[in-house]
Amino acid sequence: MFYEIDRFIKKIKSFLREDQIVLDTDGLSHFSYDATEISHKPHIVVLPESTKEVSKVMRCAYDLDIPVTPQGGRTGLSGGAVPVVGGVVMSLLRMNRILEIDTKNLQIVVEPGVVAADLQTALKKHNLFFPPDPSSTVESTIGGNVAENAGYTRAVKYGVTRDYVLGLEAVLPDGTIINVGGRTVKNVTGYDLVALLTGSEGTLAIITKIICKVLPMPRFRRTCIVYLNDLLGAADFVVSIFDNGIIPCAIELMDNYCINCVADYLSSIELRRDAEALVLVEVDGQHEIATDDEAQKIITLAKKNNSIIESRLASDEVEAERFWRIRRDTLPALKAKGKDHLEADVVVPRYALAFLVQAIKEIEKDHIVKIATFGHAGDGNLHVTIQYRKGNFKETEDAYNVLEEVYKKTIAMSGKLTGEHGVGITVKNYMKLQMTPEEIELLKRIKYAFDPKGILNPRKIFPEYD
Ligand SMILES: Cc1cc2nc3c(=O)[nH]c(=O)nc-3n(C[C@H](O)[C@H](O)[C@H](O)COP(=O)(O)OP(=O)(O)OC[C@H]3O[C@@H](n4cnc5c(N)ncnc54)[C@H](O)[C@@H]3O)c2cc1C
Repeated sequence: MFYEIDRFIKKIKSFLREDQIVLDTDGLSHFSYDATEISHKPHIVVLPESTKEVSKVMRCAYDLDIPVTPQGGRTGLSGGAVPVVGGVVMSLLRMNRILEIDTKNLQIVVEPGVVAADLQTALKKHNLFFPPDPSSTVESTIGGNVAENAGYTRAVKYGVTRDYVLGLEAVLPDGTIINVGGRTVKNVTGYDLVALLTGSEGTLAIITKIICKVLPMPRFRRTCIVYLNDLLGAADFVVSIFDNGIIPCAIELMDNYCINCVADYLSSIELRRDAEALVLVEVDGQHEIATDDEAQKIITLAKKNNSIIESRLASDEVEAERFWRIRRDTLPALKAKGKDHLEADVVVPRYALAFLVQAIKEIEKDHIVKIATFGHAGDGNLHVTIQYRKGNFKETEDAYNVLEEVYKKTIAMSGKLTGEHGVGITVKNYMKLQMTPEEIELLKRIKYAFDPKGILNPRKIFPEYD
């Protein structure tokens, strides 16, 4: 694609330093991909350090019709940060200041490039936490988490990122700076642009400042691990917990294949290789007796389940961490098998979880590729991971067929194509399975209202072929 990059460089050099501009091949390669490993080199990378600089860069790009792709930690799992048509990558990593921790109003003001784990560390000193904390916490940024409306293991109790964002400062494609929402807990003044920008995947505006709610850190947590000999039984167990009035802060599910992959990967931790399902449940609270009571109730419910093999309550924090390691290392353990992956981040209403899990097992029987199922069972969000070899035509074709079948089953169960990883480029061509042409057209009109020239993160979200 031809862009007037030289003119763009000349313009931005009048207000950015040399070290804020990347043009060398290695540097451009570094910013060319995200966690999908889909890669496309940009023509140039800019690293602004203030909202004013973001605005000026956008103005230059707008005037010259040059596409701009915003990037945070590049941990995205739907390719949203990949500059698919080249142009400019705008990395927000240098805008990484925590501007305010307001302990009286339980609010924070941060720049988008703050790494999620750094924010948690800063909040811990005040006995506070920011609930939206995806497993990519050591690399992902708050800006990226807001842009993706990220979920996380504790979303079942605490909600998703959008539930915490009160206000945003953002820069529109033509460089205009806007402020939406603010420091008030309530606000119904006009359309909810905070909610719209949260989860907009960097396609509407560049987020430059974020005001969020935070919460007091729960003082107690109890973690249980439950092995079952049947996936449907496991899904029933999950539903029974809610049916008994308990809202755990996390419920994670892994199938037999995932259990065995982790057992191969983590030799230091003992796992029940014979189990069809592993369910990890955590409860938290401010009162020890109440938290203990909920944990005991969960163990009792597990023991009542017909599919139970074994249940264990962690005796201390060290054991709880060991339980969590099993879940956290699931993706690396699957990757260690050396195959290529297609991932469906599907979500169904919690009551439909058992049926989706069963449907996936049925789909697997008719195909040659392997399907691993794990995820946030408490909120119905499963990461269905299809393993295949890209070099093998038959397996590749089969993997994509499985992906489409999984999506169709999900939608048939009132589910959605993506629960937390976003549409980006990996899901966009399936949007038509979920949305009507009229609904997609409405999304396009919103995009046009923000970005009439279509320069911000192009070729994302919308289906390629109409
Ligand atoms: C090991 C691992 C674990 C993960 N666990 C989870 C999980 O538990 N829950 C979950 O939801 N996701 C998870 N993810 C996916 C990913 O971490 C999230 O989507 C995260 O929110 C991306 O943040 P990032 O800073 O890396 O953004 P990037 O990948 O850099 O960008 C993501 C999107 O946001 C846009 N963007 C970034 N910054 C801005 C900005 N300032 N303004 C406007 N747009 C912007 C980009 O254009 C892109 O479309 C995981 C990924 C990995 C690799």
